[in-house]
Amino acid sequence: MSNFVWCHGPSCHKSHTQDRIRGVKGSKVLRTKKVQQHAWNSGERTSMYSYFCSQGCYNDFANTYVREVIAIAPRTEALETPIEVTKEQVQYGYRDGTYTNTRITTVDTNGG
Ligand SMILES: [Zn+2]
Repeated sequence: MSNFVWCHGPSCHKSHTQDRIRGVKGSKVLRTKKVQQHAWNSGERTSMYSYFCSQGCYNDFANTYVREVIAIAPRTEALETPIEVTKEQVQYGYRDGTYTNTRITTVDTNGG
């Protein structure tokens, strides 16, 4: 049993690769690739690799439909993560000196 979806890349069928060639001499075509559904890319592991044959096809889709994708969850204001910033002098080498290390720690705001 074959379980697959067609690649959603809008130009997948235009890439000149041998594995896209279908048909008989005189009526050959470049066809959209199949994306097989496996345990690693389906169900709870569904990801971009469930719908696209390659990073390039994903990028083509995202660039073509970026306005529609953003409309799903528009960002109208900045998000913020509470942090604490500490600076510490760190010795390097033997008598070579020190440098300042900046440590950023996320502050737990859930009362924990
Ligand atoms: Zn593709």
